[in-house]
Amino acid sequence: MITELSATMISSYKRCYRRFYLEYIEDLKPVAGSEALTVGSSYHENLENILKGQEFNHDGLAGKMAEAFQKYVDYKSWQAAPEQDFKIRLSRGVYLKGRLDAVTQDGFPVEHKTTGSMGIEKYIDHLAYDDQISLYMLVTGKERAIYTVIQKPTIRLKKDETEEEYLERVSQWYNEEPERKILTLNVVRTKNELEEKRQEIIELAKEMRHRRLFYRNPNACMITSCPYASICLNYEPDIQLTGFYKKERTEIEPCKF
Ligand code: SF4
Repeated sequence: MITELSATMISSYKRCYRRFYLEYIEDLKPVAGSEALTVGSSYHENLENILKGQEFNHDGLAGKMAEAFQKYVDYKSWQAAPEQDFKIRLSRGVYLKGRLDAVTQDGFPVEHKTTGSMGIEKYIDHLAYDDQISLYMLVTGKERAIYTVIQKPTIRLKKDETEEEYLERVSQWYNEEPERKILTLNVVRTKNELEEKRQEIIELAKEMRHRRLFYRNPNACMITSCPYASICLNYEPDIQLTGFYKKERTEIEPCKF
């Protein structure tokens, strides 16, 4: 049996077994992305173009965030190749797969993050425990990764303001104390920490294969909202759902139970 895991699958599983079941076993995806997700993915697309030395979309919040990135992040020194797919074997039948935001010329993984309500300081504290970055170090065989973190604008459109005026204000906002709003961090892990993480993922894969009961973790959705909340209590596989679509499985199924 082959189990292919990604960083988001592991995060979903650790957060709530029920959510993992809906997302990765039933393969359900919410139809409409939240505004936060849309801004985040447009920002990532812009950064991909910046790293390729191509023009990017300057429109909207994602455009202003990308302009701030271009101005305040020393990305040229990385000579990074953006969007690198990977799949590595961790042990017999257990694979780690996914996509790195970029890899520097020296082989270090680069990950771009946006943060909203959490605030940038809290986000930095959280990096010490961040699974995703450890996984990316495992994939590249490095003990260091580059993380860029940008705070989403905390200023809002005023009643008597046009969209254009607001976006101009957003640019100004990034220009004031940019060191507090967009950061480049070097995150390190020791060899032992990475080996521990490798063992943890292998254990998790075994646990997932044998799990029969995907119970809820109500504490998880008390902290952050869950996109599966509307079907969490009354999901029935044979009933057509509104607001969700069934993902097509490609290649090897990520988990078989
Ligand atoms: S609503 Fe809460 S309990 Fe239900 S799937 Fe989401 S996180 Fe889990």
